[in-house]
Amino acid sequence: MSSDAHDVVVAGGGPVGAALALALQPLKVALIEPRQPQLKAQDAWDVRVYAISPGNISFLEQLGVWQRIDAARVQPVEAMAIFGDRPGSRLRLRADEAGLPDLACIVEGLALQRGLDAAIAECPAITRFCPALVANVTLAGAAATVTLDDGTDVAAQLVIGSDGRDSAVRQAAGLELRDSDYGQLGVVAHFETTLPHRGTAFQWFREDGVLALLPLPGNRVSMVWSTSRDHAAELQALDGNALAAKVGSASAGALGALRVLTAAAAFPLRYGRVPQLVAPRLALAGDAAHSVHPLAGQGLNLGFRDVRELAAVLAARAPRQDCGDYTLLRRYERARREDIATTGLSADALQSLFAARSGITAAVRNFGLGALDGMPVLKSLLIRHAVA
Ligand SMILES: Cc1cc2nc3c(=O)[nH]c(=O)nc-3n(C[C@H](O)[C@H](O)[C@H](O)COP(=O)(O)OP(=O)(O)OC[C@H]3O[C@@H](n4cnc5c(N)ncnc54)[C@H](O)[C@@H]3O)c2cc1C
Repeated sequence: MSSDAHDVVVAGGGPVGAALALALQPLKVALIEPRQPQLKAQDAWDVRVYAISPGNISFLEQLGVWQRIDAARVQPVEAMAIFGDRPGSRLRLRADEAGLPDLACIVEGLALQRGLDAAIAECPAITRFCPALVANVTLAGAAATVTLDDGTDVAAQLVIGSDGRDSAVRQAAGLELRDSDYGQLGVVAHFETTLPHRGTAFQWFREDGVLALLPLPGNRVSMVWSTSRDHAAELQALDGNALAAKVGSASAGALGALRVLTAAAAFPLRYGRVPQLVAPRLALAGDAAHSVHPLAGQGLNLGFRDVRELAAVLAARAPRQDCGDYTLLRRYERARREDIATTGLSADALQSLFAARSGITAAVRNFGLGALDGMPVLKSLLIRHAVA
């Protein structure tokens, strides 16, 4: 079985693949995804949330996606308060110090996916193969061919793997993944608080990991506690009241008393580097191309920046140039190398610095936080990188 030829096959319709299919318009795109499109609005809060940078929000607006998300479910982040593991070690970053209205906006995963899927449903040049999985990729010859799990062949000039951390496309193409396991899980849950968060994202670097409480609309917060597997299992075994009390005390009562709103879920944390992002007729984007520690909330932001670059490179190709042309794809790879390396390394370095138990390291890191707090120029630079 084979389907009509497309310009591009996008394998994986998560946030990165779905944004990519839209950003590649007016190209003829085949989008392959095992999950049904998310088209219905839902009342319950999704426990997965993302901090999206202002640069990526503008990009999602250009795609006609951000406007589709219910503004009452989106929370702007105006400030960050970061605490070390010694009293007084604290860093505060404010958007207005860098002349910006917000540092980021917090949005639920399902709400974002719904905006993307609804925009795709209105786009005639995108054909969805769904539910379908990529089973194999053949790159030889004048076209790339993706074979689906039901045996259908989908041919195109270019295949883009946006099929997540365990990318089948990356594996089929034989592209190397350098992967380290942090031995940690990111435990997530939502809470109601008795004190207002005032648009502040809180983060505590603790001996038992990094605890973040991200603001949600109203008096709600979303927790990401990156911690050892054993501690994560302990947290997940607690009942709602005990979990709320534990998080309330770990956050030093900064938001008053907490009440749990969702069951806790946990996600394994890995640092994944892919030295080669492209091959003739093939490119990787999003978590298929890199995975980073979530402490800086940059994984999806990095993926959206891949999408912006890849779409720009393909749009700027010569009139008859093939989308799968290797020289074109190398341009994308070169343009993305520094951002991917810097973002992954800084998240890794921060997590290692705060995971270290030695007294000297603890003193240095806590001094560093306090010192940085008194350096407005450096703080502004830090913010400028995070909001891209
Ligand atoms: C606890 C936690 C908190 C995070 N918080 C943030 C944050 O605040 N901000 C941020 O920027 N990032 C954050 N991240 C990172 C973010 O979750 C990821 O970077 C993002 O989900 C990557 O999107 P993606 O579309 O590349 O991959 P995925 O979301 O993994 O999507 C991959 C898609 O491919 C599909 N697929 C899988 N296999 C196949 C196949 N064989 N064929 C076809 N399709 C396939 C899947 O169904 C899925 O839809 C966080 C991560 C964690 C773990």
